[in-house]
Amino acid sequence: METPDIVVVGCGASGALLAGQLFRQATQVLQLSCVDSRFRLGAGLAYGSARDEHLLNVPASRMSALPDQPDHFANWLSQRRLTRESPTEYFAPRRQYADYLTDYLGESLRTSTLPHGVHHEPHRAVGLKPLHGGWLLNLDDGRQVWSKTVVLALGNLTPLSPPSGLHAVVEHPAYLHNPWSGSWPQLDARASVGIIGSGLTAVDQVLSLQVAGHRGPIHVYSRGGEWPGVHVLGANPIDIGLRSGSLATVLRELRRGLALGAGQGAVWQQVIDGLRPHTAQIWQQFTEVEKRRFLRWLGSSWNRARHRMPPTVKDRLTQLEQSGQLTLGAAPAIAGRPSGAMIEIDPGDGSEIRRVHMLLNCTGAGSRVTDSAQPLLGQLLEDGLIQPGPAELGLANDADGRVVNRSGLPQQGLWTIGPMRQGSLWESTAIPEIRQQAADLAERLLQ
Ligand SMILES: Cc1cc2nc3c(=O)[nH]c(=O)nc-3n(C[C@H](O)[C@H](O)[C@H](O)COP(=O)(O)OP(=O)(O)OC[C@H]3O[C@@H](n4cnc5c(N)ncnc54)[C@H](O)[C@@H]3O)c2cc1C
Repeated sequence: METPDIVVVGCGASGALLAGQLFRQATQVLQLSCVDSRFRLGAGLAYGSARDEHLLNVPASRMSALPDQPDHFANWLSQRRLTRESPTEYFAPRRQYADYLTDYLGESLRTSTLPHGVHHEPHRAVGLKPLHGGWLLNLDDGRQVWSKTVVLALGNLTPLSPPSGLHAVVEHPAYLHNPWSGSWPQLDARASVGIIGSGLTAVDQVLSLQVAGHRGPIHVYSRGGEWPGVHVLGANPIDIGLRSGSLATVLRELRRGLALGAGQGAVWQQVIDGLRPHTAQIWQQFTEVEKRRFLRWLGSSWNRARHRMPPTVKDRLTQLEQSGQLTLGAAPAIAGRPSGAMIEIDPGDGSEIRRVHMLLNCTGAGSRVTDSAQPLLGQLLEDGLIQPGPAELGLANDADGRVVNRSGLPQQGLWTIGPMRQGSLWESTAIPEIRQQAADLAERLLQ
């Protein structure tokens, strides 16, 4: 049995950012084990796409791995002559960002004066139990790894349940539940495609179909029938001073701030971006009922405003819509039904029922541990070693990221980072938040 100093379970961007910080901050030699079945560290679900049309949704100037070196990613791009565009206007392909994280990890190892070691376990973790004052991790090949310290950097979860209304087609060969699986069925270029969800995952799939030369109709459905917001290049954040209040007060103040900003020639994107450094503080003051209410009634609007697309991507969607190939519709109570080899989609509002050759579930990644197919999470829940976070998002954890068990006690040596902290911090899925968490958590772990 191996005994690394720290085991990081899941090594997408969160795990890689943490590993880099550990190597940069450590004053003693460190042996790190990174458990992730993906072949490269840092890619994860978010940056694992090999497709050039899948772009970052944040300009390069805001994607540095290091909170104290904001130009780190922009410099990396320019040293490699990967773009001539300004970093405030360049939305890099996500695979380029995975390359950057790989290099960042290598650089963190090289620049340390100590001979640290990192070992990649190309496996999934399927179980975790407390043992001898540490944690015993079970891997899917039957081996075990023990360490005093384990960090759960599990990232974005693949949801177990299909969106409501689609239960009848889950087993249908034309239905694809996980669009990131890479196992698209063979598709005739003139086939009709249905997409459920109109967020950034749906946008990725539309672009991939276009790049693949698809000529058939693409029908996108979501409850509100709206695309994500669009970035306004060069628009700086505006702080409207909102820091606290009940959900009703926050909404009133936000509306006031948006109207005031608009009156002074600002765009809404600037007000939303100005709120971002304060969202954790605001979120933590909401009651549990307010958090759930926010998610239920405003979660999608917030996500559309926060997770935006580059203007070039919006232009491509507009062209496709104008050509008639792409439609976006509101579907308040969508239902899917098998129809021979095809699937019939009923938007549920009396509008046209359509038949499609392929239906993609693009409702996005999940953050509910109780709705995850992961055996690891199932076992941890069953043993009471974890509990869902506030509003059922991610894992319950304390202010430093220590995982909290069913009895509400922070667990010695068990930590989490990234999207799994969403319940306690709300904004905990994007690089600007995660890189700071990585720096702080590394400091804690090394103490
Ligand atoms: C498609 C997509 C695009 C995004 N684009 C951006 C962007 O442009 N800018 C931005 O700031 N944010 C973006 N995000 C947000 C994103 O969540 C974060 O930026 C960041 O990538 C999260 O990294 P992560 O490592 O926590 O999660 P993930 O990328 O989800 O990676 C988690 C990793 O953990 C592994 N894992 C999970 N469970 C286990 C287990 N039991 N055993 C072993 N390994 C396990 C998975 O295989 C995966 O490799 C995007 C998210 C998605 C889903």
